[in-house]
Amino acid sequence: MSLISARNIDFSYTEKPVMENVSFSVEEGQIAAIIGPNGSGKTTLLKIINGTLFPDAGEMLIDGKDTKEWLRKEIAKKVAIVPQDISIIFPFYAEEIVLMGRFPHLNNYRFEDKNDYKIVFEAMEKTDTLAFARRRFNELSAGERQRVLIARALAQEPKVLLLDESTVFLDLKHQVQFLTLLRQLNASEQLTVIFVTHDINLAAQNADRIILLDCGKIYAIGNPAEVITAAHIKEVYDVESLIDRNPQNGLPRMTLLT
Ligand code: ADP
Repeated sequence: MSLISARNIDFSYTEKPVMENVSFSVEEGQIAAIIGPNGSGKTTLLKIINGTLFPDAGEMLIDGKDTKEWLRKEIAKKVAIVPQDISIIFPFYAEEIVLMGRFPHLNNYRFEDKNDYKIVFEAMEKTDTLAFARRRFNELSAGERQRVLIARALAQEPKVLLLDESTVFLDLKHQVQFLTLLRQLNASEQLTVIFVTHDINLAAQNADRIILLDCGKIYAIGNPAEVITAAHIKEVYDVESLIDRNPQNGLPRMTLLT
């Protein structure tokens, strides 16, 4: 049984369909990328995966169970999302935002304890955010906020990590640090990762499986070599590109032709 499984999903916010007959599955321990032009439905799909939105038709299954049947808190123990950016009205400290990642694991009988603070500390250490633990989230730079949101998701100790453009604001060093961390967690804890990105090369170099969306439909799905072709890029993005191979790993590498 697949960890994440979408079956013939249709979805719309208004009358206009945003998702049509979308089916795919992601196995435990896989790293999957969702790519596609603006408005193709990438963020919507992440929200459907984590049960923030429900399909109008079809099913979204986590561990074989429909997201409609999961309690929100139970999903949050399994699936964490790093959203594109969030503005927070209340002036929380960065460390308080990360501690929010522990909420799904608490209840009326269990408040946060030493172990929760240890997990928060470790998540902040891994994301290089301890230096601004006591700074207000809203006053941080976009890249720093992104790292705090990644720390919050890690503190949730999920089985599945959903990332929505989570590296766009990161400088090169923090991008490399984050990708290395993802690979480590993937290897050591079988963490499943589904990331949305505009960066075709980021997807090609890091994903086992790529889902290419076009206007709410799956245009192509498969490994990087199957999906990242000049013909697909032309058809979906309407740009000319050169696809060659990264000499280090043989994976496809795209250069835009202008
Ligand atoms: P992507 O992440 O690929 O850019 P989105 O999933 O954000 O695409 O959006 C898919 C489509 O749904 C777009 O046409 C967008 O305008 C529309 N959309 C997104 N969010 C909403 C919303 N809350 N209400 C109405 N339409 C929305």
